[in-house]
Amino acid sequence: AKEAGKGKYMIFDPAFLQAFNDRVLLEKHLRQGLSNEEFLLYYQPQVSLKTGKVIGFEALIRWNSPELGFVSPLTFIKVAEDSRLIVSIGEWVILQACRFAKRLQNEGLGHYKIAVNISVVQLQQEDFVDKVMEALSTTGLAPQYLELEITESTIIESFDRLIPNLTYLRAQGIQIALDDFGTGYSSLGYLKQMPITTLKIDKTFIEQVPAEDDKRSLARAIVLIGRKMGLQVIAEGVETDRQIRHVKRSKCDVIQGYYISKPLPEEEAVALIRSDPAY
Ligand code: C2E
Ligand code: CA
Ligand code: CA
Ligand code: CA
Repeated sequence: AKEAGKGKYMIFDPAFLQAFNDRVLLEKHLRQGLSNEEFLLYYQPQVSLKTGKVIGFEALIRWNSPELGFVSPLTFIKVAEDSRLIVSIGEWVILQACRFAKRLQNEGLGHYKIAVNISVVQLQQEDFVDKVMEALSTTGLAPQYLELEITESTIIESFDRLIPNLTYLRAQGIQIALDDFGTGYSSLGYLKQMPITTLKIDKTFIEQVPAEDDKRSLARAIVLIGRKMGLQVIAEGVETDRQIRHVKRSKCDVIQGYYISKPLPEEEAVALIRSDPAY
């Protein structure tokens, strides 16, 4: 690179140019993907520790691009956010997820909660609330079966702007989960002001940590706080027997993770419910 110093000439850095091209290309394919219906939702079951029964699912987006193959959401969500394509993609996700929960009801398989990941870019849209309510009325799903997952860092970033909309949605009966909890350093003061129903403890707290590790006591403290506040506490990323024992001792309400099941394509998720598993 030139003696850029201040990063002025960064555009001539070949690595940067490459990354830029990749993004432009990815964005182009994303746009196509949306019109060609290349996105899919997978559903990962959530299980009550008390009853051992599936009580709901988290919807996780998958993209099978003819040109790029399977692309991880960890790669494309950021690009979709920067290009605002996430707004249309996110609307599609909410509608599909509501359809799925309603389908289970229609087929007599029971009433399950469906949790949907929401990007901060979506939340900032003026018509976000309308879109959510529209998805519920289009599909006929009652609001208490929809849960919006919002990351802790997202909320803290634009607390004042987001709280009114979230409060409104909560008042309609929709559930609100704070995702990746424990990674965003929200103060207890914030927590009390948020209209949330659910805490999802980030998997970094669930991973195998020695009994005396600070993370483990922190995880327990988080569960205690959540329960004191009347919130449902979900442990995510639970993979092993040992972790199950750990979250049981911590008095979590719900678990989600490979120990139970990977995220499943819709028909497999339906088949799982039909088999009426107990964990
Ligand atoms: P997340 O919301 O924290 O979702 C949990 C991620 O952990 C998922 O990755 C899931 O497949 C994975 N996971 C589940 N159980 C286990 C386990 O036992 N062990 C481990 N190591 N991982 C587990 P995935 O599906 O690749 O999604 C990655 C992230 O992409 C999500 O993280 C979420 O932030 C984002 N994402 C996924 N779908 C959507 C969507 O529809 N909209 C938006 N805005 N973001 C999405
Ligand atoms: Ca999530
Ligand atoms: Ca999470
Ligand atoms: Ca995450």
